[in-house]
Amino acid sequence: MTCQESEQYIQDFVDDRLTGDALEAFLWHINTCKTCFDEMETSFLLKEALARLEDGTSFDLHSELKEKISLTEQYIRWHNRGAVVRRLILTVAGLMVALEMMYLYLYYL
Ligand SMILES: [Zn+2]
Repeated sequence: MTCQESEQYIQDFVDDRLTGDALEAFLWHINTCKTCFDEMETSFLLKEALARLEDGTSFDLHSELKEKISLTEQYIRWHNRGAVVRRLILTVAGLMVALEMMYLYLYYL
């Protein structure tokens, strides 16, 4: 993902509207690009600060942002693990079909 693409995703990320591959690519980008991270942080802080000013609660936005990023990363790891398990099941199923065919082939030869 380029910085230009990442900029387009910042608002969606802050508003929790970013999902799937775009979310993963975006997180990877902001973890490796300080400029985009700072920009995302500013948008997040601005949005949250405005919301808190309205309802008057106290806040620790920096830890909340870290929490949001860590939760999202956990979600992605969990999501990827699901994909690995699905691939494993498909591989095993494929092997069983292959063995079955080999067996039938040898048996009826
Ligand atoms: Zn960037």
